[in-house]
Amino acid sequence: MPRVLDPQLKRALADRVRYYNELGIYDFYRRESAAPDTIAIDANPDVSETQPEQRDLMTPRAKAAIAVPVEENSFEVANPKPESRVSDPAQALRVIREDLGECTRCPLHKQGRKQIVFGVGNPKAELMFIGEAPGADEDQQGEPFVGRAGQLLNNMIKAMGLRREDIYIANIIKCRPPGNRTPEREECETCSPFLMRQIAAIKPKAIVALGAVAAKTLLAINAPMSEFRGRWYDFRGTKLAVTYHPAFLLRDPRQKKETWKDLQMVMKELGMAIPTRGVE
Ligand code: URA
Repeated sequence: MPRVLDPQLKRALADRVRYYNELGIYDFYRRESAAPDTIAIDANPDVSETQPEQRDLMTPRAKAAIAVPVEENSFEVANPKPESRVSDPAQALRVIREDLGECTRCPLHKQGRKQIVFGVGNPKAELMFIGEAPGADEDQQGEPFVGRAGQLLNNMIKAMGLRREDIYIANIIKCRPPGNRTPEREECETCSPFLMRQIAAIKPKAIVALGAVAAKTLLAINAPMSEFRGRWYDFRGTKLAVTYHPAFLLRDPRQKKETWKDLQMVMKELGMAIPTRGVE
């Protein structure tokens, strides 16, 4: 049965949405309070001793209520994004970057970030890779995936027969967390609406989420990597696949073979010829 909002509450909600829009926030998430259809949560008693790719990266509070993406276009008609009338993806990305400004929306701006790492690549890319957060090299250079993990990502891209400039690369959050710690849920929630807008501007045919943080944030599903991989998800009408984060592959190179399987699935979907050599 559709829920009818009290007109006063509706007005208050609209005011609040307008306020968030003024802050540059356009996408909203709804927390389920009751849990009849929430996803089963694994009860890993001690996350600190497990591998980052395998452990549950959400805080206990996040575990208690998994973010569920609000239906697309909610509030959108009433609150169009500044880039919504721009048809050129490169121009739309510039508008989004401008809207982001010298962002101070979350505490990371005062925790040692040197610069915002917006994203890089072809604004008309058919394929987007999405990582977790900038590290020290990225913070220094202002570009995602330029350190050691970035070199491995470059190898993955090359193995697919592509060049870095053919695709678009971004992260869930745009500022380096101190000590490269895992982004907090609030940081992801504050920052990821800008990534959503980048995706909407680029309109890729496929997205590859690199690692558990990217997968969990984009899909709002709390699952281990073993369950995320090997299948397609629908992400707001775009195909999304999940593979291991290159930083994890640096620690466990045996998983490159598995990653190559994921990338082959992506190449097939994009109608690309599949080279015989895998990721090195
Ligand atoms: N790891 C990420 O997730 N993103 C980067 O940009 C670099 C390392």
